[in-house]
Amino acid sequence: MRKIMFDYGKVRNRYLKTHKVCKVCFDTPGEWRYGTRVEIHHIRGKLGSLREDERGFLPVCRRHHIMIDNNKEWARSHEYLCEKGRWHVPFENEEFPA
Ligand SMILES: [Zn+2]
Repeated sequence: MRKIMFDYGKVRNRYLKTHKVCKVCFDTPGEWRYGTRVEIHHIRGKLGSLREDERGFLPVCRRHHIMIDNNKEWARSHEYLCEKGRWHVPFENEEFPA
């Protein structure tokens, strides 16, 4: 069984080493610009295995992370946020059409 939560720090750090560009503005935020580097937004939330599942990650700058959290309809229309029915649904529980 996978460890949940415990390894998130490692998963995050490894992911951010190769994802340095915000997917909203395509900028590479440095400390000098937005006060922080790229963060991981969780497109489906952080419940259970979703916390560590890279399929639900979106690298974003601080500014756009806040914008996504505050403008859910806008975020959904750009696929920065999952459809309502998929929130907190792990990828392994996804039902694919036959
Ligand atoms: Zn951005």
